[in-house]
Amino acid sequence: MSEQSPRFRRVLDQFAGYKPGKAPAVAAGKTFKLSSNESPYDPLPSVAAVIADAARHINRYPDNTAAALTEAIANRFGVPAGHIAVGCGSVGIAQQLLEAVGEPGAEVMYAWRSFEAYPYLTDLANATSVQVPLRDFGHDLPAMAAAITERTRLIFVCTPNNPTGTAVKRAELIAFLDQVPADCLVVLDEAYVQYVRDPEAPDGLSLYASRPNVAVLRTFSKAYGLAGLRVGYLVGHEPVAQAVRKTMLPFTVNSLAQAAAVASLAAEAELLERVEQVVKERDRVRTELLGQGWTVPPTEANFVWLPLGEESAEFSDACDAAGVSVRPYSTDGVRVTIADREANDAFLAAAASYSRRA
Ligand SMILES: *Cc1c(COP(=O)(O)O)cnc(C)c1O
Repeated sequence: MSEQSPRFRRVLDQFAGYKPGKAPAVAAGKTFKLSSNESPYDPLPSVAAVIADAARHINRYPDNTAAALTEAIANRFGVPAGHIAVGCGSVGIAQQLLEAVGEPGAEVMYAWRSFEAYPYLTDLANATSVQVPLRDFGHDLPAMAAAITERTRLIFVCTPNNPTGTAVKRAELIAFLDQVPADCLVVLDEAYVQYVRDPEAPDGLSLYASRPNVAVLRTFSKAYGLAGLRVGYLVGHEPVAQAVRKTMLPFTVNSLAQAAAVASLAAEAELLERVEQVVKERDRVRTELLGQGWTVPPTEANFVWLPLGEESAEFSDACDAAGVSVRPYSTDGVRVTIADREANDAFLAAAASYSRRA
């Protein structure tokens, strides 16, 4: 037998794939998973009932056009159905967009540090990443504008930014968009938009309307609590939505996800009450952390960022040992998801008892 293994694209040697947040390491006692920005709440009974009902028909393929869900999104947000494309989570749509623009020489720009899927999905799409360092934990939009070349095909603006929590301001975003060439797509990744309370933050849906090269990504995973079902959507002008439909894996949004997403829009008021609880907890956690002496950038998302540098792994391990899993990012910092009060208190206690290096 030959020693040689099948040959794959060389780009696969450069990374290990997406690393999801871990469950807490300790086996005994109550543990809390604060590593993946999920909703801490069980599904709403009304949504769970719709999923159970939909489960009776899973011998059939789902609606490949997701007509009912598309209609529900269109009605909810007052956008044309033709401007909507649904996908297997918004990360699935990000992959489809990259596939639609990716070719050797194409550049994909995003702030760094930002969402971890951007670099490896860009590599997979045969495009080149251009990473523009964050400034004060937020997007440096003037530097991003200055880094645009004729090869720039797509720019992600993740707002609020994962993992730092900062949101861009409407005025600076508009000034940025005005400098982006018409043939370059700007994708506003608004996975956490429901948690935003800054009145100066932008609303992607009002910005995209007059700009054919701007699209918005949203998800049912976070505020709507459907992370396990994988459904998100894009709102953009017809050619952009078309590109996403063309690069879609057939039947990529399953029938349970479609039904649950429609039911979640119908139950949105109830879900947004839960979001409000998380927002209150977020502000309490940040205030307590500041009181404990930590540096925590202002956050508009359902998580906080602790820029701990070299100490990130150590702090993360200490939280783990206390039954709280958080998300370390090499030597940059640690992201901690806001959950219910009990979980947040467990994290705050772990943070308070951690002794920092001198
Ligand atoms: C969680 C997240 C997503 C996507 O989640 P899906 O579950 O794939 O919809 C997209 N962008 C950012 C920045 C996220 O944090």
